[in-house]
Amino acid sequence: MGIFLKNVSKQYDDLFALKNINLFIHNGTFLAVVGKSGSGKSTLLNLIGDLDNPTDGSVSIDGINLTTLQQIDHDKFRNQYIGFVFQFSNLEPSYTVFENVELPLIIAGMKRSERKHKVLDALTKTNIIHKKNQKAMTLSGGEKQRVAIARAIVNQPKIILADEPCGNLDTENSDIIMSLLKSLQNEENIIVLVTHDVEHSKLANRVVTLKDGEVMKDTGDH
Ligand code: ADP
Ligand code: MG
Repeated sequence: MGIFLKNVSKQYDDLFALKNINLFIHNGTFLAVVGKSGSGKSTLLNLIGDLDNPTDGSVSIDGINLTTLQQIDHDKFRNQYIGFVFQFSNLEPSYTVFENVELPLIIAGMKRSERKHKVLDALTKTNIIHKKNQKAMTLSGGEKQRVAIARAIVNQPKIILADEPCGNLDTENSDIIMSLLKSLQNEENIIVLVTHDVEHSKLANRVVTLKDGEVMKDTGDH
């Protein structure tokens, strides 16, 4: 089981953001995607996260072909399978930490009593539980990213996608976020991290380097 990209291309007019990508990412993998700006990293992540469609080829997750899902199934699929963390945390500034993390569970239709336990669990894992009643806008950058990660994992998604989650942080906070991501790795899930930082890519057990939309290097699992 895992993520399977088969002959995946993403074309914008005459530009190939991704060109004939073939990748299998199996469960338990912490994959780092590296490459220069414009090499296609975010495009790849968005296709895996079902935020966008390939212009050619297919993306399957545990045998579910994303290209053939109906609209309503896309929303359900993303809610259940995918946790996304971006460079900017995109929290609701006037909501508390707790409320921000609760949001995906409300969308999933979960009962209040079940939600509370899940939210507290995610906030404990990301070490931000002490701020649970604070409004998001009062947090530091590093704290916001911890909340964003809590929100991404609260549904216990199979796949955690992080697109330069430390792009906006100092070294100390970046290290905290990276070890946090690493701590979330287990045998069942898949973490895909887009990063510019060579040090961060060392936490991964596989590194794929993109260049001009193509896989230039793939270390395989190690
Ligand atoms: P990276 O994340 O590695 O910096 P991206 O995946 O964002 O790269 O972009 C890859 C290429 O696709 C770039 O040349 C970018 O300009 C182009 N691109 C990305 N999104 C769009 C879009 N919506 N329309 C046109 N070109 C795009
Ligand atoms: Mg990008």
